[in-house]
Amino acid sequence: MTNCLICKHGLADYVDLANDNELPKVSPIRIPPKDILRRQSSLNRLAMAYRAKEIPRRKILDFVSEHVTVFHGTFLFNGHVVILDDVDDLFDLDASERWLSDFLRFAVHPPRQQAQDRVAVRLALLWAALAVHNPTQAELVIR
Ligand SMILES: [Zn+2]
Repeated sequence: MTNCLICKHGLADYVDLANDNELPKVSPIRIPPKDILRRQSSLNRLAMAYRAKEIPRRKILDFVSEHVTVFHGTFLFNGHVVILDDVDDLFDLDASERWLSDFLRFAVHPPRQQAQDRVAVRLALLWAALAVHNPTQAELVIR
């Protein structure tokens, strides 16, 4: 995506930029409420967005981690600023491989029910990374 500073310039370049006080202000990213993220339609579209990137499943967490940790604006969730800097912990890495394949399958076979509450944080992270990478696409996911 040409509008992603991280993918476009590479992570190292962007980290240098982030230390520069001259960097323009970035609008906060408002992560949608859990109930919206858990919707069947949101799951289906979020899965489509990730599947279309053709990132190998085991690289998806790297993608999420790089995008959310290097973003130099703030993330807001339910009106609070949230720090998303330990993606592996938040994702529960041991359980995530299988979950991610199930998740990606929702792109082709839309889920029959909404996502469970306990995976809402994972969905929030996936959405937040997408919002850094491509804000327009992230908005479409939750429409
Ligand atoms: Zn990107």
